[in-house]
Amino acid sequence: MPYHTNLARILRDAGLKVVEQPGWQSRGHGPMGAVQGVMWHHTATSASAAGNFPSLNIVTNGRSDLPGPLCNLGLGRDGTWYVIAAGLAYHAGSGSYPGITHGNTNTIGIEAEHPGTPGHPWPAAQLDSYRRGTAALLKAFGLDSDRLMGHKEYAPGRKIDPYGLDMPNERRVVQGLMTNPPKTAGGIEEMAFNDSFKDWAGNQQSVLSWMNNIDKRIAQLHHIFLAPGAEASRIPGDKNRTNLRDAIMDNTAWTNRILGLVAAGSTDPQAVADALRPVISSVVEEAVAAALGEDNAAQADAIVNEITRRLGGEAA
Ligand SMILES: [Zn+2]
Repeated sequence: MPYHTNLARILRDAGLKVVEQPGWQSRGHGPMGAVQGVMWHHTATSASAAGNFPSLNIVTNGRSDLPGPLCNLGLGRDGTWYVIAAGLAYHAGSGSYPGITHGNTNTIGIEAEHPGTPGHPWPAAQLDSYRRGTAALLKAFGLDSDRLMGHKEYAPGRKIDPYGLDMPNERRVVQGLMTNPPKTAGGIEEMAFNDSFKDWAGNQQSVLSWMNNIDKRIAQLHHIFLAPGAEASRIPGDKNRTNLRDAIMDNTAWTNRILGLVAAGSTDPQAVADALRPVISSVVEEAVAAALGEDNAAQADAIVNEITRRLGGEAA
């Protein structure tokens, strides 16, 4: 005798946008039976009606000749799901589909916002969400894709919804989604920023700390090789540290410069040393000065000059 109060969670877990209509958990013309299928409909509301799901009120509260709820779930033009009723809804009427004769009792009814007339192609985002959500529902209720039916298949002759959709093809697409669940936006659906994992060195770290580390290392590379003279604010940890995008661009340029030397046949160590010398001497100069402190500036200068002389180049 169930109220299917897991509907919102099933759809959310599938990465879909979900809006819960207040009171949906206890809304219905009494409880439903076991879910044996999913039935697709269109709302037949005018295409000129404003908003994402202008049929929300009617599918929730019904119309003069038929009290609501008129579906379990609604689907907006942009693919947002509206959870209307966990209990029985008047959406199927009389009809049958192999194995099912009580559509309201045994199928989840979905009303998708669509006028049901020619000249209104289904928006890609809406159709994609229709399929994904249905795949998630079928899976959650332990059903195969052959348990997806159109109202027009349950009540042929009487109904035409969902307009323009070839249900055998839709079942194939939904089956594909059930077999190979799609990646949700961003492609990191299996990890959140706070999740931790063991890195190649066996250290436990979070995704966020890992990204911070990469950011710092790139900034360090930038500071050491490309902008050694830059002020300390470019050093990692400072709030004004190197902009990540710039650091990546700069480091890529540096890497390409070295690769370019090699690719051009300049494997001559002297050529590479010449390219790196100004960078290295600057780093040494900075390091020595920092280690000796301001009071020993003269000594630092002497050390740097000697190192620079030995490297055979000029100090930066
Ligand atoms: Zn219908």
